[in-house]
Amino acid sequence: MTEIQKNIKIVEKRITEACERAGRSRDEVKLIAVSKTMLVETILEAVKENIFVFGENKVQELVKKSEDLKDYDIEWHMIGHLQANKVKYLPNIATLIHSVDNLRLAGEIQKIGEKSNKILDILVQVNIAKENTKFGLLTEKVEDFVREVAGYQNIRVKGLMTVPPFVRNSEENRHYFKKMKKIMVDLNDKNIDNISMSVLSMGMTGDYEVAIEEGATLVRVGTGIFGERPYLK
Ligand SMILES: *Cc1c(COP(=O)(O)O)cnc(C)c1O
Repeated sequence: MTEIQKNIKIVEKRITEACERAGRSRDEVKLIAVSKTMLVETILEAVKENIFVFGENKVQELVKKSEDLKDYDIEWHMIGHLQANKVKYLPNIATLIHSVDNLRLAGEIQKIGEKSNKILDILVQVNIAKENTKFGLLTEKVEDFVREVAGYQNIRVKGLMTVPPFVRNSEENRHYFKKMKKIMVDLNDKNIDNISMSVLSMGMTGDYEVAIEEGATLVRVGTGIFGERPYLK
């Protein structure tokens, strides 16, 4: 067995166990293998292990890999910071855009959605720990943002995404995951027209089990599957 195959087995087992601890069904949680910086051959090793959902954080890389791997039935997610001028590449490639955190970007997604006659699925990125190094809306800005985007006809707000602080002990992030879940539940309770969210994208290699225990529906695992990334940017 290759290292990647072994890693996938471990991650799958941990996801299943976290679901059991939380009394959740395994199919409530989807694993996104974060393949940024990884070669197509490396991605194919994961495909062999029945991984068909991948996350990338750069549009060019996403476009290139989706072309190289077009013969495989892969679902691609855009998880990284996104510039408005790159949105035009995404409609036929990305199943979900995780990283929407400003109206300029949302406006461009609306425009491109309209042009391509599609409704584009997005998540609203929240900077849950108010870190000034991180993208995402501050908690107190999320409701106004969602209310505004709710009026955009070619955008469907599926839920929320966050990248919490890097911590050695994943328990330190539990309260942030709890807060994310609460923000989503509270927003749904407001019955905003067009808004019914069910997706919580949270949890990475260091903390996905805790995230699942607190309600994550998408976990984004890179290092835990592919090993350390080469430092190329
Ligand atoms: C790189 C990345 C991940 C994966 O991080 P790991 O710690 O390697 O699992 C998850 N989410 C986002 C937004 C990323 O950029």
